[in-house]
Amino acid sequence: AETLHIIGGGMAGSEAAWQAANAGLDVVIHEMRPKVGTFAHQTGDLAEMVCSNSFRSDDDEQNAVGLLHWEMRAAGGLLIAMADRHRLPAGGALAVDREAFAQAVTATLRDHPRVRVEAAEITELPRDGHWIIATGPLTSTALGQAIAAETGTDALAFFDAIAPIVHHDSIDMSKAWMQSRYDKGETEEERTAYLNCPMDKAQYDAFIDALLAAPKTEFHEGETAGYFDGCLPIEVMAERGRETLRHGPMKPVGLTNPHAPDVKPHAVVQLRRDNKLGTLYNIVGFQTKMKYGAQTDVFRTIPGLENARFARLGGIHRNTFLNSPTLLDDQMRLRSAPHIRFAGQITGVEGYVESAAMGLLAGRLAVAELTGRSLPPVPDTTATGALVTHITGGAEAKTFQPMNVNFGLFPPVDLKGGRRNRPARYKAYTDRAKADWQGWLAAGDAQLAAE
Ligand code: FAD
Repeated sequence: AETLHIIGGGMAGSEAAWQAANAGLDVVIHEMRPKVGTFAHQTGDLAEMVCSNSFRSDDDEQNAVGLLHWEMRAAGGLLIAMADRHRLPAGGALAVDREAFAQAVTATLRDHPRVRVEAAEITELPRDGHWIIATGPLTSTALGQAIAAETGTDALAFFDAIAPIVHHDSIDMSKAWMQSRYDKGETEEERTAYLNCPMDKAQYDAFIDALLAAPKTEFHEGETAGYFDGCLPIEVMAERGRETLRHGPMKPVGLTNPHAPDVKPHAVVQLRRDNKLGTLYNIVGFQTKMKYGAQTDVFRTIPGLENARFARLGGIHRNTFLNSPTLLDDQMRLRSAPHIRFAGQITGVEGYVESAAMGLLAGRLAVAELTGRSLPPVPDTTATGALVTHITGGAEAKTFQPMNVNFGLFPPVDLKGGRRNRPARYKAYTDRAKADWQGWLAAGDAQLAAE
C-alpha cells in the first residue's frame, strides 16, 4: 500500500497520523523539532500545547467547541482520548496536564506499528506521493517560502490581524442600519454586505478614552517583525491621535442613518458580512491587541452592539495560513497540486481543538483517497463539517481570517413555537450535529467493511 507522509507532528499532524494508521495506511510523520525549534515550542514532543493548557469548553450540548470534542471522541480521536486521560479539574473546561498529554500522544504514535517519526525539517514542496502539510502557525521559513511560491504570496499570510466577529442576531437593528458606503455595489448581496453603527461626539470621545485605557496583550518576542504597516491595532491608531480613527475605519462619510436622517453621525463603526450564511459580521478595521475581557466591554459601548455576542474576538499574531477558500478544494487538497492536503491551523482555523479536528478529517479523507473510495461530504450541520465548509468555501475569500468553531458557522435550525431561546437553539444544533456526524462516520465504516 502507499505511504502517507505528514509534515508537522503538532495537533493536526498527530491526529491525522493516528486516523490514517488505524485505517491501515503506513504513515511517516516528518517533524522538525527538536532539531529545529520555533519561538513557542519548548520540547521535542508531538502535539505540544504552546500556550494555554486548555481545550476550552467540554459542554457538548451548548458549546460548539464541546461539540467538536464529542465528534472527535465518536471518531476515535487520539488527542481527545489523551486529553481525557490527562484531564485536570477545571470546571466545565477540558484542561490537561500538558506534559503528560504530549508525552502520551508521542509514545502512542511512536509505538504504533504503522507510524514512523522522522526528525527533519522539510523545506520544499513534495512533487509526488501523498502528503498532508500540517506545519501550523509557526511553519518554518523555508517551507513557508516554498508554499508561497506555489500559491502566490498574496494567498499565504504570515500574520493574522483579526477583527472581532459578531453574531448578526445579536445586533440591535433599531440603532444599526444596512448600507454600503456611497451605496456602492451592484447586487443585493453587495448592498447588504455592510452594517453601520453611528456615534455622536460624546460617544466617540468615551470610546477613544476606553481604547486608550484598556489592558493590552504584549507581543511575543520576534512576533512583530515587518508586519506593522496596513494592519495597525485600533488602540495604536487611537494613540497616534484622537481623530485618527475618525479619518480611518470609523469615518462617517457616504452613509445616512435612516433612524435619524437629519443628524450627521460624528463617527460610524462598520461591520461587514463575514460568511455566505450572513450569520456573522466582522467589525471593519478593528484588529486589536486588547485583552479579551476589555474587548467585549469596549465594543459593547458601540451603539447597536450593547448586547453583541462575539463569535470570536480580535487579535494579531504570528500565524502562517492559507487563503483556503481560494486554494483548497472541499477535500482539503491544494487545487494546484492535489497530492498535497493541508490540515490544522495553516488552513485558517484557530485553536488546538479546531486544528486537531481538521487533522482528523484530513487523515480520514487521505485514507479514503488512497484506498480508492470517496467519502460523502461531511455534513455542514456538524462542527467538523461547518468548519471545513467555512474555510473551503463559506468564508469571504477577500477578507479571510482564521476562525474558531462557533454556531454562527452552522446552517440555522428551524425551531417551532416557544423553543426559540438560545439554550434550546444550541441544543437543537448539537442534537442535529451528533446524529449527522454518526451518520457520516457510519457511511465511511460501511464502505471500508464492504471491501
Ligand atoms: P502545531 O501544533 O504548531 O504543529 C505544527 C508542527 O509542525 C510543529 O510541531 C512544528 O514543529 C512542525 N513544523 C513546522 N514547520 C515544519 C517543517 N518545515 N518541517 C517539519 N516540521 C515542521 N491555541 C489554543 O487553542 N490555545 C492557546 O492558548 C494558543 N496559544 C497560542 C500561542 C502562540 C504563541 C501560538 C503561535 C499559537 C497559539 N495557539 C493556541 C494556536 C495553536 O498553536 C494552534 O491552534 C495549534 O497548535 C495548531 O495545531 P497545528 O497542528 O496546526 O500546528
